[in-house]
Amino acid sequence: LFAEMTVSPLPDILGQGAMIAIVDQSEIEESEQVRRDFVANVSHELKTPLTAMMGFIETLRGPARDDARARDRFLDIMEREAGRMNRLVSDLLSLSRVQADERRRPSSEVDLPMMLRGVLVTLGQAIESAGITLETSGLEGAQRIPGDPDQLVQVFQNLIENAVKYGGGGQYLGVTLRRINYEPTLRGPAWAIDVSDKGEGIDEIHLPRLTERFYRVDTHRSREQGGTGLGLAIVKHIVNRHRGRLKIVSHKGQGSQFTVILPESHNRA
Ligand code: ADP
Repeated sequence: LFAEMTVSPLPDILGQGAMIAIVDQSEIEESEQVRRDFVANVSHELKTPLTAMMGFIETLRGPARDDARARDRFLDIMEREAGRMNRLVSDLLSLSRVQADERRRPSSEVDLPMMLRGVLVTLGQAIESAGITLETSGLEGAQRIPGDPDQLVQVFQNLIENAVKYGGGGQYLGVTLRRINYEPTLRGPAWAIDVSDKGEGIDEIHLPRLTERFYRVDTHRSREQGGTGLGLAIVKHIVNRHRGRLKIVSHKGQGSQFTVILPESHNRA
């Protein structure tokens, strides 16, 4: 391109020392496109429950006005739809917070095994009522690394909730903490947390896009399970902020393993 450009003297509009800024529009336009898609997705996700609720309000005002049973049923559905909107708005707020934070390294520390034990206690009821066998290893004792405790809780809550939601058929959940002496991608020692299930698994073609906002393998199934499609996007941004890595290994029909690798210290990473 440059070889074909003819350089002619600039008109002296700014006097001596005029400057030309060459801006690569393609990148700006691409992110503009991504932003537009995101707004369209959010609008669609909010509009679906809203439309359902407006329909039921109309029915409650009209045909179902004097039918107590129909009224109760419609109110239940409206409550569920409002819950869906509530979860979506909470996840959007989380996502926007973690994206804003992404360039600032966490200044606090987190005790990894204690944090993981806490998450398992919080989700204990859900794990138990899904009839899932929980296997853990390496969660004893204490191990402190740099990290934002609230954000890392969110990471493992999302991953474990997914294993419960989509791993149901396998009835198994594994949570493992292990030390890696030298993690090449982080050029130093690291801690790896594996969250595994023996559930439905994910087809290979979906894996590269799984952490995109609103990307779901099966939208209907995700919605039915109360998913917003934002969980793994939130996980990705938090792991990035910690200068960590997220690895996903999955085989259709056999199960999935999500591994979060976090640097032991921030000196090297
Ligand atoms: P959602 O709110 O839909 O669960 P996520 O961002 O958490 O959104 O996950 C994106 C999609 O990845 C899910 O809709 C599901 O299709 C797939 N997925 C996530 N975790 C698992 C898992 N453990 N097993 C199978 N599929 C999964």
